[in-house]
Amino acid sequence: MQEKGTISIHTENIFPIIKKFLYSDHEIFLRELVSNAVDATQKIKRLAQLGQYNGELGDLTVEVSFDKEKKTITISDKGLGMTADEIKKYINQIAFSGATEFVEKFKDAKDANEIIGKFGLGFYSAFMVAKQVEINTLSYQEGAASARWTCDGSTEFEISAGDRKTRGTDVILHINEDSEEFLDKWKLQGILDKYAKFLPVPIKFGTKTESVEDGVDDKGEKKWKSVEVDNIINNTSPIWTKSPNDLKDEDYLAFYKELYPFSEDPLFWIHLNVDYPFNLTGVLYFPKVKNDFEFQKNKIKLFSRQVFITDEVKDIVPEFLMLLHGVIDSPDIPLNVSRSFLQADGNVKKINNYITKKVADKLAELYKKDRKVYEEKWNDIGLFVKYGMISEEKFAEKGKDFVLLKNTKGEFYTLPEYKEKVKAFQTDKNEQVVYLYATDVAKQDAFIQSANKKDYDVLVMDSPIDNHFIQHLEMKEEKTSLKRVDADVVDKLIQKEAGYANLLNEEQSKKVKEIFEKAIDSKSYTVEVEGLSPEEMPVTVTMEEFMRRMKEMAQMGGGMGFYGAMPDNYKVAINGNHPLIDKILKAEAEEDQTKLAKQAFDLALLAQGLLTGKDLTAFVKRSVELI
Ligand code: ADP
Repeated sequence: MQEKGTISIHTENIFPIIKKFLYSDHEIFLRELVSNAVDATQKIKRLAQLGQYNGELGDLTVEVSFDKEKKTITISDKGLGMTADEIKKYINQIAFSGATEFVEKFKDAKDANEIIGKFGLGFYSAFMVAKQVEINTLSYQEGAASARWTCDGSTEFEISAGDRKTRGTDVILHINEDSEEFLDKWKLQGILDKYAKFLPVPIKFGTKTESVEDGVDDKGEKKWKSVEVDNIINNTSPIWTKSPNDLKDEDYLAFYKELYPFSEDPLFWIHLNVDYPFNLTGVLYFPKVKNDFEFQKNKIKLFSRQVFITDEVKDIVPEFLMLLHGVIDSPDIPLNVSRSFLQADGNVKKINNYITKKVADKLAELYKKDRKVYEEKWNDIGLFVKYGMISEEKFAEKGKDFVLLKNTKGEFYTLPEYKEKVKAFQTDKNEQVVYLYATDVAKQDAFIQSANKKDYDVLVMDSPIDNHFIQHLEMKEEKTSLKRVDADVVDKLIQKEAGYANLLNEEQSKKVKEIFEKAIDSKSYTVEVEGLSPEEMPVTVTMEEFMRRMKEMAQMGGGMGFYGAMPDNYKVAINGNHPLIDKILKAEAEEDQTKLAKQAFDLALLAQGLLTGKDLTAFVKRSVELI
């Protein structure tokens, strides 16, 4: 019995088109064929359970092998097999019509990248690497005859009697010249590790040597010998398929190591498990973030029924949670469509919301369970929480209960706690509560000390995200504004009704201003004489909050917008009530006045780490002279 036929499709030459589109992703042929083998195996198990198959199931291991001489790769399963009629139906009609649909849909696609790997080409993907594909199969059905199908990727196929003696299917790929790289142990092992590592049926690829006990020697010591054993490449029941109740912390940590062998232990994890309105399981880990922008390295892996699909989980996982690690498995995520489709998909949106909610719940739980432990982890979690609150309204809503503010003394406060703490001393004359913060505790130390002396508290806002988080707080917290601690002299940071009167009269103030303007001689400073506490520094250099933020934003944007192009604009506040200023006024020689003014100004710069290079050297020299 031999039969030739033509696959009924409309589009001629499908193969070259598919090959072009899938050019960079040829390796997925193995994922598709091994998945088919696994499906066939699961189906025979199911039939046995349902009593529709009464034969022995036997060993169900799927085997992948290759022959370098014959240039073949073979995927063998002991699944349900196919009859000749089933091959015609499933392979010729269904599999090929899937391929036809693919071509119809994407022949006009502009961006090939958009569709590469997103369309499950299934069986047909074999032709990306094979010039000829052969199926040799025996169906589980009683009295079935083995069937063989061969096809060279054109629309011509051939069906004849096969020679398979036991239930199951061999798919034999005759590898084409361009794809001989796949006839390599390490190459295939690598692809299997990537896609098949957690498939639910054991996958064998070659053999490996193992040491096993071999009785005892005459001294009574254990003897060992090496034996060749099957190399099973996968873990058939990864933890996300199990119930959280059956798992211990060690299991989660061991799995993390399995996924990311070189990473430090994660901080904590969340086990995802839903079956309605969509199906999703997974484990998400919170990694230790060493460096704020290192997080892209280990990505969340997306699976569909334990088959690895991709680690590009954008759109499925909310942006801010891209920092997480782990796995998500869902048969409900449409895998074979383009990106724009994915974004519009209702399930994907629901999944996105679900994950956001789960993460928020977990953080709230950790916070409630043990505040101290939570605070200890804050350095690592803070980034997620702040980023999440800024980028997701829903998360911000929940996050306000567990986001923490840290002050320069190392104390942690929730938002309501902090407001309560600073309200008394830090409310200005317009009823605004002013939160003070430092971006560099060492550099801004002089200002922090001045603030503390006035019973003001200072927050630490030193991560790159804090810039945005500050704006978020101002938007969300009622009647609250934030100011960097060096945004003004301490008496003016928080404007109260009564300040100090300036002891200098108008003429004296004018004179002081002139002396300093001459001594400093720079366009980037504006000199102002003010009445401050005599306890404060004689001169303070500050940059106004608004101006500084604008400049910082221009810098981050990289462009030279209006504010970016502006020179630094510092305010030099002269404390009219300080005895040194009086001394400068009273100095006889103009030269001495300039010298003292310059010295006082340099001291102010020094206190803020702004005095460097030539100016610093000149300052040291002048100081020696003055002493
Ligand atoms: P899909 O797997 O998405 O259905 P494929 O193109 O990969 O599409 O396969 C088409 C059909 O061919 C399968 O649905 C299945 O019925 C049949 N098939 C493929 N491989 C095997 C196999 N190893 N054993 C039994 N049937 C198979």
